[in-house]
Amino acid sequence: MMNGSLSQRIYFFTLSCCVLFATILGSVIWSSQTVELAFARDSYAQQVDNQTNSLKQLVISDNIYSSSYSVSHWQSLQKKLTRLLKSSPKLTPSQQTVQNSIKSQNENLKRLFSQITKNKLKNASAAIKVHLKARLMMQLEAIRSDSLQLSSIAHTDIHNTIKHEAFFIIAVSGVSIVALLFGSFTLMHIVRKSLDEVKRAFKQNHSGHFQKIHLSHPSDEFDSIVKAFNGMNDKLSETTVSLAVMKKVVEERTHILEQLSNTDPLTKVANRRALFERASMEFSRAIRSKNKLTLLLLDCDFFKRINDEFGHLFGDELLIHICNICGQEIRDIDFLARYGGEEFIIILPNCDIKGGIETANRIQHSLACHCIAMKDKEICVTLSIGVCMLSEQHKDLEQLINDTDKAMYQAKENGRNRIEVLTPPNLH
Ligand code: GH3
Ligand code: MG
Ligand code: MG
Repeated sequence: MMNGSLSQRIYFFTLSCCVLFATILGSVIWSSQTVELAFARDSYAQQVDNQTNSLKQLVISDNIYSSSYSVSHWQSLQKKLTRLLKSSPKLTPSQQTVQNSIKSQNENLKRLFSQITKNKLKNASAAIKVHLKARLMMQLEAIRSDSLQLSSIAHTDIHNTIKHEAFFIIAVSGVSIVALLFGSFTLMHIVRKSLDEVKRAFKQNHSGHFQKIHLSHPSDEFDSIVKAFNGMNDKLSETTVSLAVMKKVVEERTHILEQLSNTDPLTKVANRRALFERASMEFSRAIRSKNKLTLLLLDCDFFKRINDEFGHLFGDELLIHICNICGQEIRDIDFLARYGGEEFIIILPNCDIKGGIETANRIQHSLACHCIAMKDKEICVTLSIGVCMLSEQHKDLEQLINDTDKAMYQAKENGRNRIEVLTPPNLH
């Protein structure tokens, strides 16, 4: 099958049908002319028969041996028959043979009649007369018989022509119908298949699979749609890829921003905002599940003095150092945050006063062990640490932090580099 446009296929089938229709029409015209000619031949044979019959009737009705017998009537009929035989329509070869026979019979008839009518066979015996008349009748019968044969051939021709024509029309119509059915089925199949393929591609596209369409039955009409679709698909695919990349970048940036908004820029531990978020979560959880919760509040001793003596930058370094020491001495579930300035809070979930004091001790000990060198001096920073555990008297987080702060101030008042605990009934 050709591989062009669908319209070309339609034109091809339409043209084929027109050619077949023209063939049928031509055949019908040819057949009707053939039948018409056959009818003309039949009519001619009928006329010959009628004319011969008239002559026969003439012979039967009158006594041709009578002296009163008029030959003029016979001759006029005879002339008509001769003229008729000369003006025959175009005959078939087999009819032409019969026609020749009729002509020769007619010549015989003429000769026989002139022999009979010449002297009226005056002296001939009655037997000869009867014999000649019988020959005349036989001759006429022979012509009639030939004319009937002519007619019969014409009838057979008409019958055969109609039969062949009917067969031809049925055969050509059958071929046309089969070709039309095949053509329309092929077209329908191509259109339906192509539509299905386009529909499937749209569905896949919708679900995010940007696949190109490859038509199993290419055609110019669908090719242009497919070309446009594939182009659109390429663009969509590119846009989606860049969207995915952008989404990832935005996610990463958002994560960084979240971290930045929760982190203290100097010490890189959690800032005040993150501290209150985590502390209120732990406070609620401890209340809800009746778990222990302990806070530590750490304040550097004489930090102003250190700043003044060694500079603010050194002070910053010390703050980072303190955070590193604290981070090493707490558990994974504990939470260290910068409360403000040189003050830090450590949240200790599931931890009682004893655990809190132990942690505070570890931090102080570690700090004492890890001093920082500055201008050939060993600078050892100390911390005053307040410890407070969540109790029934604490109605909110603020009260717990205030009590921890109070404990830290007691540590300051009691000489610094100390750990002080605030327990009931000394709470707020
Ligand atoms: P005290 O033992 O009573 O706590 O004495 P102190 O000198 O530490 O007094 P206080 O806690 O009131 O002073 C805090 C000082 O910490 C004041 C401020 O200059 C200093 N400071 C606060 N934030 C920073 C910081 O980010 N970097 C540095 N280098 N110093 C800071
Ligand atoms: Mg302070
Ligand atoms: Mg201080």
